[in-house]
Amino acid sequence: MWIGTWIASDRQMNYPQTMKIILESSNEHKKKEIEQLFIGHEILLPKDLGISFDCEEDGITFIENAMIKAKALLDAAKGTKAQGIPVMADDSGLIVDALPDQLGVKTARFGSPDGKTILGAKEKYTLLLSRMEGLSQEKRSARFVCAMVLRKDEWTTYCVQESAEGRIQEQPEGENGFGYDPVFYCNEAKSPMALLPEGDKNLYSHRGKASRAMLKLLS
Ligand code: IMP
Repeated sequence: MWIGTWIASDRQMNYPQTMKIILESSNEHKKKEIEQLFIGHEILLPKDLGISFDCEEDGITFIENAMIKAKALLDAAKGTKAQGIPVMADDSGLIVDALPDQLGVKTARFGSPDGKTILGAKEKYTLLLSRMEGLSQEKRSARFVCAMVLRKDEWTTYCVQESAEGRIQEQPEGENGFGYDPVFYCNEAKSPMALLPEGDKNLYSHRGKASRAMLKLLS
């Protein structure tokens, strides 16, 4: 279900069939997933356009952080050849019911000794498994959440949030996807996320659902 939709003053505007979109990410896996979802649109990364910028993701919700990233990218594109191209940011993460406040918007920094040094994906999910050790199936519930913000310009912002329910496995399985996928069992897919064949993750994932909601808003 979408929890956010907005904000467009110009819903009657006709958007082009094919849009260039700059995705606020350096994660090629994420880019690939988004490309498979935004079919017919051209997804660019800031680094492809020579845009570099930093922003502090200090929001307390996924939506706040996605807004912060989209604004930072929109501002960074000003005065460059990318000015005028719509920008999109997603903020995603894992919520684990047994470990309240440990992941969520802090998922990327999970296990970081100083909040700055980021552990590798395998180190993070291994730590997660160790903190969940001994917990029964019922206590292993979790969900991936994805907030996605597309800003066409200063005045036109679209925002959606979606989730995928599941649980944390006892052992990693599979090598597809990225991040915490090897330890997440997706209820709807009835499969560990990282065992889903290429392309199938998008049918069930938080990002797949958020992208479809976003495309619906834009249509
Ligand atoms: P970000 O929103 O890209 O910064 O992601 C936050 C954290 O959630 C990172 O540690 C990602 O690896 C993890 N994450 C986000 N989306 C996924 C996913 O689809 N699968 C596995 N991990 C993810």
